[in-house]
Amino acid sequence: MKDTLDLFADPHELTLISGPCAVESEMQMRAILTGVNKPSLIRGGIFKMRTNKNSFQGLGDGGFDLIRKLQDEAPFHFVTEVTDPRQIELLLPITSVFQIGARNMYNYELLKAVAAFKKPVILKRAFSATISEWLGAAEYLADLGEKNIVLCERGVRSFDTKLRNLLDLGSVIYLKKTTPFKVFVDPSHSMGLTPYVIDAALAAVAAGADGLIVEVHPNPAQALSDGQQALSLEQFNDLVAKLQKLAPIFDKKLKV
Ligand code: PEP
Ligand code: MN
Repeated sequence: MKDTLDLFADPHELTLISGPCAVESEMQMRAILTGVNKPSLIRGGIFKMRTNKNSFQGLGDGGFDLIRKLQDEAPFHFVTEVTDPRQIELLLPITSVFQIGARNMYNYELLKAVAAFKKPVILKRAFSATISEWLGAAEYLADLGEKNIVLCERGVRSFDTKLRNLLDLGSVIYLKKTTPFKVFVDPSHSMGLTPYVIDAALAAVAAGADGLIVEVHPNPAQALSDGQQALSLEQFNDLVAKLQKLAPIFDKKLKV
């Protein structure tokens, strides 16, 4: 496996990060790890920031133990959200890339804390953050160096209610032309509904995205969080096949 600080360095690589919204069980994670297109970068929430306090909050320490056990069997890069500076030390041994969620983009103490560890950071855009506010938050990660700061568009609030969020591909085009940062798109949280995720992912690549973060679940109907926007393993493989064809048009090669 590549050193984590080089993970996103190649400008011709299209990164695909996939996995469940939340790590739920050994069976769930094994199904994803052994899917037809085995993803090389796996996402999964261990500490979840749920809008409703009674919703599944993540496995916490148990999620750490599970990922460690699976990585001991066969190494893989794991991407997970850190929601509190006190979680960083725990997550460090299993995490290649830290994710800062939309709800924490403005949590500057968390950003400063995570920047002290030499791992790439994916900074999601807050629901209503302007691009300037988002870039302001990215400044707190400056110590990591440009190549290790990933801005992730995940849709913003709008007047419309049909979709979960408004996928702002304009931000992707703008950021790619005006900043040195990597720009990823999360089509899952942007659209919020499975049937639209693949098309949104393809549009993101056409807009210039360097990578995608896509929620995948072996049994979306049984997911403990965000099942309504998860791709099944079959749908994920369909996405991979489409990205393999699309990436070269934009001078990129898909890294799965
Ligand atoms: C997530 O990626 O699981 C997540 C909670 O995303 P966001 O912070 O963009 O809502
Ligand atoms: Mn989610």
